[in-house]
Amino acid sequence: MSGTSALYQEIILDHNRAPRNFRRLENADRTAEGYNPLCGDQFTVFVKLDGDRVADVSFLGKGCAISMAAGSLMTTLIKGRKKSEAAELMDLFQRLVTGQTGAGGSVPPQLAPFNGVSGFPERVKCATLPWHALKAALESRSEPVSTE
Ligand code: ZN
Repeated sequence: MSGTSALYQEIILDHNRAPRNFRRLENADRTAEGYNPLCGDQFTVFVKLDGDRVADVSFLGKGCAISMAAGSLMTTLIKGRKKSEAAELMDLFQRLVTGQTGAGGSVPPQLAPFNGVSGFPERVKCATLPWHALKAALESRSEPVSTE
C-alpha cells in the first residue's frame, strides 16, 4: 500500500470513528432517508435551508465505515453551499467513486480519500448513499430512497 492510500484509509477510519455532524437537526426544513440493502447502510439526512443555501446539514443512522465516512465528509463539504453547488459536488463524487474522473483536478481534496472506492464496485453504493439521501432532501422527495 502506498503512503497516500494509507493516509486516505486513515482519514476514512477517522470519520467513521468520529463522524462529523452526526446528530438530528431539530429545526431541519428537509429530511430524507436512504437505504442500501446490499450492505445494510441506512441513514437519515437533515437539511436546514436559508434561501438557496444549505445553512446546516447533518445525518444519523448506521452503516459501514465507507458510508459513515462518506456521510461525515459530505456534511462538512456541503454546509454553507448553494443547492446548485451541492448538486455539482454530488455529481463529482459519483464520478470519482465510479472511476470516471480524468485528471481529477476539480475534485475537492476532502473527497480524494474516496478515489480508492472505484476499485471496489460493491462499495460504490455505500459511498454514494448519503449523497442520494441529500439529493432527495434537497429535492424534497418524501419517498425513502434506495440504491436499488
Ligand atoms: Zn456499506
